[in-house]
Amino acid sequence: MTTAGKRRVNGRIVLTLVALSLATAGVAADAGAQAAVARQARAGGTPTAAEVQRAIDQAYAKYKGLNEGKNADYIPALAKVDPNVFGIALVTPDGKVYTVGDLNTQVSIQSISKVFTLARVIQDEGEAAVLNNIGVDATGMKFNSIVAVELDRNKAEINPLVNAGAITTTSMVKGGSAEAVWNNILQTHNDFAGRQLSVLEDVYKSEAETNQRNQAIGALMFAYGKIKANPAQAVDIYTRQCAIGVNAKDLAMMAATLANGGKNPITGKQAIDQKHVPAVLAVMATAGLYDDSGKWLYRTGLPAKSGVGGGIIAVSPGKFGIAVVSPPLDEAGNSVRAQNAIADISNALGGNPYAPRAMNMAAGDVR
Ligand code: GLN
Repeated sequence: MTTAGKRRVNGRIVLTLVALSLATAGVAADAGAQAAVARQARAGGTPTAAEVQRAIDQAYAKYKGLNEGKNADYIPALAKVDPNVFGIALVTPDGKVYTVGDLNTQVSIQSISKVFTLARVIQDEGEAAVLNNIGVDATGMKFNSIVAVELDRNKAEINPLVNAGAITTTSMVKGGSAEAVWNNILQTHNDFAGRQLSVLEDVYKSEAETNQRNQAIGALMFAYGKIKANPAQAVDIYTRQCAIGVNAKDLAMMAATLANGGKNPITGKQAIDQKHVPAVLAVMATAGLYDDSGKWLYRTGLPAKSGVGGGIIAVSPGKFGIAVVSPPLDEAGNSVRAQNAIADISNALGGNPYAPRAMNMAAGDVR
C-alpha cells in the first residue's frame, strides 16, 4: 500500500511518498509520470496511448496491495469470490482498449445492470415515464432501503438505481411474457457490451434463495401502484439481470458505449439513442454510488455505477468509459480498489467533465 502525505521541511511543503510495499524510487518515478500526464491533460491535449496505459498501470500497482473492505456476503455466492481479483479496463470512443490485471474472471454485474435496464425503459417508454413513475432523486439511504419506499409512497422521488426503483424499472420493460422481458433485458446488455453475455447460475440461485427483502420491496411497489402487475416476476427477472457475468473489459465497453453517445465503439451498434444518454448519465451522477454518490462526484465529477459484485463503471462523456473489478466493498457497498483506481486514472487523464476548459469561441459565436 502506498500513502502520500505532506510534510513541512525547511519552510517548504514537499510531497513525501511512503511506499510500504513498493520501492520508494519506483513510486516517486510513477508519481512524476502521472503528474506529467495530468499536466498535459490540463493543458487540453489528448493523452497518448502510452500515457493512458501508464495511468492505468500505475493505479493497478498502487492499489493492488490495498486490502481494505470486504466482499458482500448477504448473497452467499458473493462471499466466495476471490477478493484478490483486480482488473482495470478503459475503452475510448474510437475503440481503443487498455487493460491491466485480471480480465478473465467474471463477476456478477449486480447493480450495474440497473443502468442498462434503465436505458432500455427510457428508450422504449421515454424519459417522462421514468420521471413520473419512479423519480430521479437521490434517497440518501441504503440501496435496499424500505424506509425510502415508505417515504416515497405517494410521490415519485426515488430513482432507478436503488432496488425499489430498479425492480420497478424491470417491471416496465416491454415483452408479452417473462421470457420476452428477460430476452429484451439480456439483449440490451449484450448490445452495450458488444458480445453475448450469460447468467452466472450459481449467483442467481444463491440470490433467488435469499432475496426475501427484495420480494418485500417488490410487493410494496405493487401495493403503491408503481409496479402495475406481477411483482414476483419483476423481482425474479431483476435477480437474474443482477447475476449476468462480466469481466472488467465488458464493463468498460458498456461504459464506453455511453461515453460514445450510445453507440458501441467496436460493433458500431446504437444501443440507445444519443439523445437519451444525458438522462441516463444524470441518474448515474445522482445515485450511482448509493448514498456516497455526492462524495464520488465531488472527487471525480464522473457519472458512475457500482455493484456489490465488486465492479464499478464510470463515464467521461466523449473521452472514455472505464471499469474496475475488485470485490471488497466499503461500508456504502462500493468497491474500495475500484473507487481509488478510477479516481486516480480519470484525474490523471483529465476525465472530469466539470473541469474548466478554455473555449475557442469566435466573438460572433457568443450570443
Ligand atoms: N442484486 C443485489 C441486490 O438486489 C444488487 C445490489 C447492488 O449491487 N447494490 O441486493
